[in-house]
Amino acid sequence: MKPIRMCISCRGKFEQNLLTRLQCKDKKLLKFDGNGRSFYICNTCLKDTNKISKALKRACKNNKKYEIDLKEILVNVR
Ligand SMILES: [Zn+2]
Repeated sequence: MKPIRMCISCRGKFEQNLLTRLQCKDKKLLKFDGNGRSFYICNTCLKDTNKISKALKRACKNNKKYEIDLKEILVNVR
Protein backbone atom coordinates (compact mmCIF):
# COMPACT_ATOMS: atom_id res chain seq x y z
CA MET A 1 0.00 0.00 0.00
CA LYS A 2 1.25 3.47 -0.88
CA PRO A 3 1.54 5.98 1.94
CA ILE A 4 -1.23 8.59 2.05
CA ARG A 5 -0.54 12.07 3.38
CA MET A 6 -2.69 15.12 3.95
CA CYS A 7 -2.22 18.45 2.19
CA ILE A 8 -2.13 21.23 4.79
CA SER A 9 -3.94 23.62 2.45
CA CYS A 10 -6.96 21.75 1.06
CA ARG A 11 -6.77 18.91 3.63
CA GLY A 12 -7.19 16.42 0.83
CA LYS A 13 -5.51 13.03 1.15
CA PHE A 14 -3.01 12.08 -1.55
CA GLU A 15 -0.31 9.57 -2.35
CA GLN A 16 3.08 10.88 -1.34
CA ASN A 17 4.32 11.28 -4.93
CA LEU A 18 1.57 13.85 -5.60
CA LEU A 19 2.74 16.02 -2.72
CA THR A 20 5.70 18.28 -2.06
CA ARG A 21 7.27 17.90 1.35
CA LEU A 22 8.31 21.16 3.01
CA GLN A 23 9.52 22.37 6.36
CA CYS A 24 10.09 25.59 8.26
CA LYS A 25 13.49 26.32 9.70
CA ASP A 26 14.31 29.59 11.45
CA LYS A 27 11.07 30.98 10.01
CA LYS A 28 12.17 30.20 6.47
CA LEU A 29 10.28 27.85 4.23
CA LEU A 30 12.47 25.10 2.77
CA LYS A 31 12.29 21.78 1.02
CA PHE A 32 12.31 19.02 3.60
CA ASP A 33 15.91 17.92 4.23
CA GLY A 34 15.13 14.80 6.26
CA ASN A 35 15.31 16.34 9.72
CA GLY A 36 12.66 17.74 12.01
CA ARG A 37 9.02 18.50 11.40
CA SER A 38 7.61 18.62 7.91
CA PHE A 39 4.31 19.02 6.11
CA TYR A 40 2.88 18.35 2.68
CA ILE A 41 1.27 20.43 -0.01
CA CYS A 42 -0.42 18.81 -2.99
CA ASN A 43 0.52 19.69 -6.58
CA THR A 44 -2.82 21.36 -7.20
CA CYS A 45 -2.46 23.72 -4.24
CA LEU A 46 1.16 24.49 -5.18
CA LYS A 47 -0.11 26.25 -8.29
CA ASP A 48 -2.13 28.69 -6.20
CA THR A 49 0.33 30.38 -3.86
CA ASN A 50 -2.21 32.92 -2.63
CA LYS A 51 -4.50 30.17 -1.50
CA ILE A 52 -1.83 28.26 0.38
CA SER A 53 -0.17 31.25 2.04
CA LYS A 54 -2.60 30.99 4.96
CA ALA A 55 -1.81 27.34 5.46
CA LEU A 56 1.92 28.11 5.32
CA LYS A 57 1.59 30.82 7.96
CA ARG A 58 -0.23 28.34 10.16
CA ALA A 59 2.33 25.58 9.55
CA CYS A 60 5.29 27.88 10.21
CA LYS A 61 3.55 29.72 13.07
CA ASN A 62 4.70 32.98 11.57
CA ASN A 63 3.10 35.80 9.63
CA LYS A 64 5.74 36.12 6.93
CA LYS A 65 4.89 36.20 3.24
CA TYR A 66 5.79 32.62 2.40
CA GLU A 67 4.75 32.94 -1.22
CA ILE A 68 8.22 34.29 -1.98
CA ASP A 69 10.04 31.41 -0.25
CA LEU A 70 7.73 28.97 -1.98
CA LYS A 71 8.41 30.38 -5.44
CA GLU A 72 12.16 30.05 -4.83
CA ILE A 73 11.72 26.42 -3.80
CA LEU A 74 9.62 25.60 -6.84
CA VAL A 75 12.16 27.16 -9.20
CA ASN A 76 14.91 25.01 -7.67
CA VAL A 77 12.86 21.81 -7.72
CA ARG A 78 11.75 21.93 -11.35
ZN1 LIG B 1 -3.99 20.66 -1.51
